[in-house]
Amino acid sequence: MIYVMLGGPATGKGTRSEILSHKLGIPHISTGEILRVASEKNADIKQKLTNGELITDDVINELLYIRLSKDDCKNGFVLDGYPRKLDQALALEAMMRKLSMEITEVIELVVSTQIAFDRVLGRRECPSCGKSFGVDFPSTKGDYCDECGTKLIRRSDDTEETLKKRIDTYQKWSKPILDYYMKRGILKTIDSSNHPEKVLAII
Ligand code: ADP
Repeated sequence: MIYVMLGGPATGKGTRSEILSHKLGIPHISTGEILRVASEKNADIKQKLTNGELITDDVINELLYIRLSKDDCKNGFVLDGYPRKLDQALALEAMMRKLSMEITEVIELVVSTQIAFDRVLGRRECPSCGKSFGVDFPSTKGDYCDECGTKLIRRSDDTEETLKKRIDTYQKWSKPILDYYMKRGILKTIDSSNHPEKVLAII
């Protein structure tokens, strides 16, 4: 069971991937999250994340391969944030072959630009435990994390300017990836403006 989740910023990939991974009992692998952890020890990655730029393929490919090789991925995983360009889709195929795995389905989530902006500007993250809250899932403790009580913050890349850049980058790179998976007959496109549970009911 290997699901690849595609979609521009704020299409709800993170939330929907998390729910799907719980439902299926397989890990949720987010390359954004892997990179945020790596950025604590690497100033170059940190700088790129803050600017909303993509991390170079050799760096992300290596980090991802290490993660997918771990035992908890043996029965599958939900991949979120990767591939972001055709080269990465091809690199993923090579990783799958090496690990004797095969992608089950690629799911593209779509929302209008207006919904993307509303979601991003309303999104907050816990700097301590990493839990994220948004329009669909606000914290029961207002500005504080309902898991650990830490004051919630806005991610440094959740600004209007960076969001515009991230949407443009997604549109530029995603078309060849979508064509590639469509030709292989494993692409499903889903309207992600509804509540996450409703979206996942049709997967
Ligand atoms: P979003 O979906 O809102 O862009 P993510 O958490 O998926 O947020 O990614 C945050 C940042 O991490 C991206 O803007 C980019 O800099 C970096 N990143 C994540 N995945 C990749 C990838 N596959 N290739 C290169 N950079 C990546």
